[in-house]
Amino acid sequence: MTQGNLYIISAPSGAGKSSLISALLQQQQNNEMMVSISHTTRPPRPGESHGVHYYFVSIEEFESLIKQDLFLEYAKVFGGNYYGTSLPAIEENLAQGIDVFLDIDWQGAQQIRKKVSNVKSIFILPPSLTELEQRLIGRGQDSQEVILTRMSKAIEEISHYNEYDYVIVNDVFEQALADLQAILRSERLTLSHQKKQNQQLIEQLLAK
Ligand code: 5GP
Repeated sequence: MTQGNLYIISAPSGAGKSSLISALLQQQQNNEMMVSISHTTRPPRPGESHGVHYYFVSIEEFESLIKQDLFLEYAKVFGGNYYGTSLPAIEENLAQGIDVFLDIDWQGAQQIRKKVSNVKSIFILPPSLTELEQRLIGRGQDSQEVILTRMSKAIEEISHYNEYDYVIVNDVFEQALADLQAILRSERLTLSHQKKQNQQLIEQLLAK
């Protein structure tokens, strides 16, 4: 079976990354993609649940998982909270031919690139800082103070955009989704992927 592709998707918060990933997953036909569920020490937001959006754990639990070497990467991301990607589920899914998305920040992306070859990374940009701020305010989840911190974190995150293989500007949502789908489609058509996927056909075509 062909190994699935591993993708990193990063963006400043409010750029629409989560909506793009959920739309992508909803439109898939054969469960050929999944998003890895990270561990975090931040408390759940309204509507978020354990094992669906994140594994919500205490700082003690998180540090114990670090000691057990469970994480492929981890970082202190926002408000001093730990976020981390655990290895076992990712490997299992990739081995079954499923594409796995890591919704992680630039620090995590740097760690993964050092450890995993063949990882493709995608950065989502907002159309402007004003629009980003409006989206954060519109979510109604954060206080004015948290929004200010998120905005300065956003600019820090954006400054790493040029470490990524692909960049999408999420101005019109449907267009950004089409761009994301185009990336995945072209990645499935690369020589190395197609060689494995169509091994039998290629052998037949070259048999004489
Ligand atoms: P939020 O608290 O809004 O869910 O996420 C804040 C940031 O943490 C986002 O940029 C998100 O991509 C990042 N993040 C989520 N999970 C992980 C992870 O496992 N590792 C790293 N490094 N960053 C993560």
